[in-house]
Amino acid sequence: YNSILINNYFKSKPFCKNRTLATIVSFDQRGAMETTVLTPMMQQWLECKTQAKGALLLFRLGDFYEAFEDDAKLISKELELTLTQRQETPMCGIPAHASEGYIERLVMKGHRVAIADQVEDPKKAKGLVSRKLVRIVSPATHIPGGGIQEKTSSYFVSITNLDGRFGLAVIDLASASFTVYETDSVRDLTNELFRISPKEILLSRRFQAKFKELLAEITVSNSISLTVQDDWLFDPKDAQDRLLHHFNVTTLDGFGLKTMLPAITAAGALLHYLGDWQLCPIEHITTLRPQVSTHSMFLDRATLTNLEILEPTDKARSNNSLVSILDETKTAMGARLLRQWLKAPLIDVTAIKSRQDAISDLMQQDNLVAFDEKLCQVRDLERMMYRIKTETAGPKEFVSLRQSLEQLPFIKSFIANCSSSRLKTLSEKLDPHTECAKIIRDALVDNPPFRASDGGLFKMGYNDKLDELLTLRQGSQNWLVAYQERLKLETGIKTLKVGYTRMFGYYIEVSRAQTERVPDTFQRRQTLTNGERYISHELKEYEEKILSADSLIEEIEQRLFQELRKTVASWHDTILQAAKCVAQIDVLRSLAIVAKMRGYVRPEIIEDSAIEIREGRHPIIESLASTSHFVANDLVLDGKDQSLICLTGPNMAGKSTYIRQVALLVIMAQIGSSIPASRAKIGVIDKVFSRIGASDDLARGQSTFMVEMAETASILHQATERSLVILDEIGRGTSTYDGISIAWAVAEHLLKGAKKPKTLFATHYYELTELATKLPGAVNYTVAITETQEGVLFLRRIVPGVADKSYGIHVARLAGMPQSVIARAEELLKKLEQTPPQVKPKPTQPDLFVPKENPVIKALKELDITRLTPIEALVKLDALQKQIINLC
Ligand code: ADP
Ligand code: MG
Repeated sequence: YNSILINNYFKSKPFCKNRTLATIVSFDQRGAMETTVLTPMMQQWLECKTQAKGALLLFRLGDFYEAFEDDAKLISKELELTLTQRQETPMCGIPAHASEGYIERLVMKGHRVAIADQVEDPKKAKGLVSRKLVRIVSPATHIPGGGIQEKTSSYFVSITNLDGRFGLAVIDLASASFTVYETDSVRDLTNELFRISPKEILLSRRFQAKFKELLAEITVSNSISLTVQDDWLFDPKDAQDRLLHHFNVTTLDGFGLKTMLPAITAAGALLHYLGDWQLCPIEHITTLRPQVSTHSMFLDRATLTNLEILEPTDKARSNNSLVSILDETKTAMGARLLRQWLKAPLIDVTAIKSRQDAISDLMQQDNLVAFDEKLCQVRDLERMMYRIKTETAGPKEFVSLRQSLEQLPFIKSFIANCSSSRLKTLSEKLDPHTECAKIIRDALVDNPPFRASDGGLFKMGYNDKLDELLTLRQGSQNWLVAYQERLKLETGIKTLKVGYTRMFGYYIEVSRAQTERVPDTFQRRQTLTNGERYISHELKEYEEKILSADSLIEEIEQRLFQELRKTVASWHDTILQAAKCVAQIDVLRSLAIVAKMRGYVRPEIIEDSAIEIREGRHPIIESLASTSHFVANDLVLDGKDQSLICLTGPNMAGKSTYIRQVALLVIMAQIGSSIPASRAKIGVIDKVFSRIGASDDLARGQSTFMVEMAETASILHQATERSLVILDEIGRGTSTYDGISIAWAVAEHLLKGAKKPKTLFATHYYELTELATKLPGAVNYTVAITETQEGVLFLRRIVPGVADKSYGIHVARLAGMPQSVIARAEELLKKLEQTPPQVKPKPTQPDLFVPKENPVIKALKELDITRLTPIEALVKLDALQKQIINLC
């Protein structure tokens, strides 16, 4: 036997299926058998470790959580803790009272952490204290306390692939949302995952092996942790049974999941994993919805990134994004909802108008300041309730919950006074949970300790027995002070002290010099360097009384706290509903505030397919400190005479800004927001696509041009006549003629196809302006410019027409290029402009873009010199020369 192999076998699978295994057998180099008998405690550890399914295990030992073996090595490295060794077993401990912080740091680094606690009182245990796995925390299920207002949702996703079809299940435990999605295409799956940006993905080993590239692409730019589990967890039949059992139904058709086996499998596996393996509370997950993409505007990954909807493209240079402009929310729930709205704008006119009405309504309320103050005090209800449910919330969080609930009556009545039907409905739906607040208020003091075990959390008058014991303890403390004074008098020892230590209990301390005056009734307990400690009969009696009172108080407090937790948790579902109402109110209020603050107007949302914007502005650029004056611009895209706008102009003129602005305004309008413009009509758009030529995407390991083309191709497949397509310098990633040809063909496809999306095409290829003369529906616009004595001046105004000249050289001059270089460039430009027409093709027909090869060169290329005799060569040379003379 190879001892290393066997050791490794036990290392990777030390805990075999056989739980009673208490002996590890291994063999040394000479083949001699060695057995390691496990202590009962290590057996217990192994059991927990097996159950932890690969998570790091923190094992409670007295006042510490200990990690062993490889876990200890990893944890000591990650947390920079000392690694110790006991009988060849590596160990690493963290103090139990500070464990939350350590666990959080491990989870932030992407680890899963299992916690095994003592489940019986060590004092009462016979033999080994029993320990059990109580919870496993992971990136998506770890909800930290301490009132952090988290603006992004913690989604846990599971993915499957059955017969080529992908199933996706998405859960957010804190808000109890559970949805599924299915698709056949890897591209859709990638987009969806990007949109969700989950914290954690559950998948099978088989999936991991089969879709390596997909997984690499998803995880490259986001910190998503992958949780890979055995294939059998994803058995379709088991998964389905699991869901039926969980929802207590006989068929899933009621959820609209008929035939969605890949989705059902993903959802069932996820519930199984979270509930049974990760020990998360899941009983509050009461519905499962298929996500219907046709209910909201489609925004793919490239569009979300290019338009900087949720994050700036270059985080190092700026932290401005559309959401940062619109986010004036006061609560974490609101902040998260706003992000959800932005990822899925509405496409239903009535629904958009209903949001608009509510916003207009709120804009007219003049007491928003008082309202804001109340809203600010509503903490993260969803996460607090999750922590209460998982029994991780401390007394302070209950007080914080109470204070949050206490704001709801004001919010409810404020909204009730508004006229829009949406706000009225919200007001009716918002249950202020006054009873729950009262129960917490009656129970807990205003400033309780962090942990219930620290004691002193309940108010006087809450529980008679507790009051009695507390009074007794308080009284006996007075007794202790009085006793000390009495002893001083009786013995005449002025320095006599009565005190307490954990180790030795109560004592009477007398300094060395005074020990002779100590009466016989004192018994010596402990000798110190400078004195002695004694105990008296009276003090002994007191000790017994007080210690039993202390442990009783602790017991009662723990029990009361658990009861309180249970009572409050029973409101879990309805408090979540209230949280949802608050989130909506908060987002609508935020949009109202922004509209007021930034001078936005309410666009008219129409069924008709046309977009008309007067004096529109780019919401992000106009808000930059570096933009002193933003020039507003109009836009008309009626889908008929004006379907495709070809926008030309020099570098830095404002092309990209303008076309992005249009897309941003449409998205804003469709979440219900007001927009930076003087007036606008927006015909609802179903999908927005935004592509930038040759974007640098080296991280994804594809050539930039390939990415550009792949992204453009996906538009051509997906766009409909109700879509908006923004193409910025498409074709830039390749040589000029190639680029122009591709850009031309793309534009032609978009205009001539069965489905004509509204398109904005920004390009510096002057040749493309010919499109307008060839294709009905295409029009040319350019960015106005004037030439002054100092050089070009960008007016930033978008006007009909064509940029007739390349201003590149002017821009170069502005950029401080040496005068000699500028002069030479101008000279070269003149020469190029005079070159014969076949070199600079007229963009009449796309195929003309490919320059015709000179026939002489062609003939020369085809010539096989090895077969020519000298005479033949001369004849050929003569012919070619004649041909050239003729050509010129
Ligand atoms: P292009 O795409 O034509 O090269 P950009 O759209 O990138 O030009 O614009 C260049 C810069 O000009 C922007 O960063 C912005 O600061 C400024 N700019 C663009 N449009 C406007 C405008 N309408 N008003 C004011 N400044 C603008
Ligand atoms: Mg540009």
